[in-house]
Amino acid sequence: MPPKRQHMTAEEFRENGYAVVDWIASYLEEVEKYPVLPSVEPGDIASLMPDRAPDVPEAFADLLADLDRVVMPGITHWQSPNWFAYFPANTSAPSILAEVVAASLGVQGMLWSTSPAATEIEQRVLDWLVDMLDLPQAWKSDGPGGGVIQMSASDATHAVIVVARHSRREHARSEDMVVYVSNQAHSSIEKGCTIAGIGHCRKIDTDAAYAMDVACLQASVAADVAAGLTPIAVVSAVGTTATTAVDPIRAIDRIAKQYEMWHHVDAAYAGTAMVCPEFRHLQDGVETVDSYTFNPHKWMMVNFDCNVLWVTDRAPLIDTMSILPPYLRNEVSDSGAVVDYRDWHVPLGRRFRALKLWWVIRSYGVEGIREFIRSHVRLAEDFAAWIDADKRFELFAPHPFSLVCFSLLEGNNATKRLATALNASGKVAVTPSVIDGRSFIRISIGQTHTGEVHIVRLKALIDELA
Ligand SMILES: *Cc1c(COP(=O)(O)O)cnc(C)c1O
Repeated sequence: MPPKRQHMTAEEFRENGYAVVDWIASYLEEVEKYPVLPSVEPGDIASLMPDRAPDVPEAFADLLADLDRVVMPGITHWQSPNWFAYFPANTSAPSILAEVVAASLGVQGMLWSTSPAATEIEQRVLDWLVDMLDLPQAWKSDGPGGGVIQMSASDATHAVIVVARHSRREHARSEDMVVYVSNQAHSSIEKGCTIAGIGHCRKIDTDAAYAMDVACLQASVAADVAAGLTPIAVVSAVGTTATTAVDPIRAIDRIAKQYEMWHHVDAAYAGTAMVCPEFRHLQDGVETVDSYTFNPHKWMMVNFDCNVLWVTDRAPLIDTMSILPPYLRNEVSDSGAVVDYRDWHVPLGRRFRALKLWWVIRSYGVEGIREFIRSHVRLAEDFAAWIDADKRFELFAPHPFSLVCFSLLEGNNATKRLATALNASGKVAVTPSVIDGRSFIRISIGQTHTGEVHIVRLKALIDELA
């Protein structure tokens, strides 16, 4: 028998919505009850689902029940305060609620005219962030530059590589173009080069602290030019993924300017720390670069996805990305009075992501976000001091932010064994890694609710399993 109607009534929506909010609140309250990492085999979760879509409607209560039955056994608990793996992808109540509202409005913010609030709130909030992070005033929306929210740092970096290629297209074929990164750079840059058809992505040697060696960069660029290749861009990292190493932006920029290269800064994780003045010396020279990206979706309590890209001059970005079919033309865009964000990245359609950024900043205030970052950095310092004082361990790299990398003096196998044991305990998640054949364990402190008690337990667990 066919159902009488397809859609929830407003009353049913309220009832189901309250049930969902209750479920979310309980999950976040009880997240520590779950093993941090799921113990499922490939195919386990899929086998809990029927082979075919249901022909007739199912009750919402059954959907909700399957969250616990089907979904939760296969969830990796990134929102556990015992999450020390990768980097954080933290979130917060105002961010979650803003996502619900954004989903409800369901707007496509591709043009100013397709939802003026989406564009103008994004511009205003990114202007706030320029001041919050003490970035160049020229990056504000009333200057020559500007900011735009993208899905990921990978997308932002890919976009600027395409801009750099476009700007030099009359001078060289893309196969002969070169982009420079350190050998510690995130894989997204090499990927961006591949997608953009850039011939060479050169990985420059790093120093003892894993920061780009500027003399090596200079030599590499000079050799490429002598070989008839065309350097188009260099990417500096503020906080590499493996160890949060910091490349010397100012020195790299001198080489960028000498060879007319686009200079992009990847501060995906560490950019959030710049809300605190005491970290800003780590990006000394930032006012000289062409573009900068960071992820509020890592460490700023704004849930995935929310990346910010700023450019010092928006003209080459728009020149590269703008294609205007007749059906997107409109008077206000033609007048030049507004920004159409579709011209600032690869996709056309875009979600209203600015809402969650706006709600998080307003809910915590700049001071609240500063205190949040400092609390994690203090915990990292405390944890690093403990590692340093224990004869079994050694610090693997400097820890300028809230990532601590350490290894066991006993050697690689012991280090790997400890990482495996920690993850198998169900009590924490950590990431094992390797540089130059040396194993280490990354302890990344940044989940929203990670506090002193979690670090005390982490130390006890390491003490027990090492
Ligand atoms: C996490 C990270 C990225 C990738 O971020 P996405 O938003 O997932 O693409 C890029 N660079 C660095 C330094 C990172 O830490």
